[in-house]
Amino acid sequence: MIVEMKRGASQEQIDGVVERAHSFGFDVQLNLGTEKVVVAVLGSDTGKVHTDVFAVLPGVQSVTRVMKPYKLASREFHPRPSKVNVSGVEIGGQRIVVMAGPCAVESEQQLIETAVAVQECGGLILRGGAFKPRTSPFSFQGLGKDALEMLSKVKSEFGLPVITEIVDVHDIELMIEYADIIQVGARNMQNFSLLKELSKLKHPVLLKRGLSATVTEWLTAADYLMAGGNRRVILCERGIRTYEDSVRFSMDISSIAVVKNVSHLPIIVDPSHAAGNALYVPSLAKAAIAAGADGLLIEVHPDPAQALVDGLQSLNIPAFKKLMAELKPIAEAVGRSM
Ligand code: PEP
Ligand code: MN
Repeated sequence: MIVEMKRGASQEQIDGVVERAHSFGFDVQLNLGTEKVVVAVLGSDTGKVHTDVFAVLPGVQSVTRVMKPYKLASREFHPRPSKVNVSGVEIGGQRIVVMAGPCAVESEQQLIETAVAVQECGGLILRGGAFKPRTSPFSFQGLGKDALEMLSKVKSEFGLPVITEIVDVHDIELMIEYADIIQVGARNMQNFSLLKELSKLKHPVLLKRGLSATVTEWLTAADYLMAGGNRRVILCERGIRTYEDSVRFSMDISSIAVVKNVSHLPIIVDPSHAAGNALYVPSLAKAAIAAGADGLLIEVHPDPAQALVDGLQSLNIPAFKKLMAELKPIAEAVGRSM
């Protein structure tokens, strides 16, 4: 942490900063410039102390962190890219992993029709929400355990691993039984008690970016998932809230490049929730792969007009097939396969 003193700060004020640093067990290095003094506060765990403890002291101009607030998710901690193996499907490897399926599981028939299409065109993981985090309590909340049973049945029929969202910490036991990847939705990215419990598992967890979270906040939330020992974390960019209202969320393509630079964790992209409209999903999906994403999470429904949730943004099966074919040369152009 760098504490910059005001021009003309007194020796007493500088000593105050040094004493505060020592009180936390940190070392200091003083840089006595001609115009102002800069105090470097050194220690492996300066991240635990808020910058305000120095900012409030008299004579202090500014306080800047040098270390990132996240550690376990950072490349400094783990220089090589992590791969997460989900029942034989490697996420973060050379192959692009497409996870696809309905927003919510509605019936066995719906799930089977989707699974056939997903498998036929090279999708590797089946998605389907059993518990839906809805903005209104009066909206369809998902079929719960019945949906998990359907996912499990279809999984054993097709051999596709499944991803489904957890919305309540009390459902962890249930999730372990049924989900190959536990999805933490955007609205729960900072549900720290949930993240802490999931960090005790060995189960793969997909962490979506919060609606208005910075990349740093997202990676720091990933640290929560890893702090208890779980190393099987996958990030998912799903668009953020901006002033733009022609799409549901603005898909932040730059986060893919940033995450790849600062973190070792695999990152996949959900173009469906970003676009909010099936018309735009293919463009966003292609852009994500071109930008270096490790995979996609796409909403597909056999009859989007009848979907109970997110029909407008769900691809029908022909549109999904077309997109999968179009993605292949893009993946190859960036040295990946599908
Ligand atoms: C979902 O994937 O169905 C979902 C609710 O997504 P998000 O958490 O990104 O809104
Ligand atoms: Mn959805």
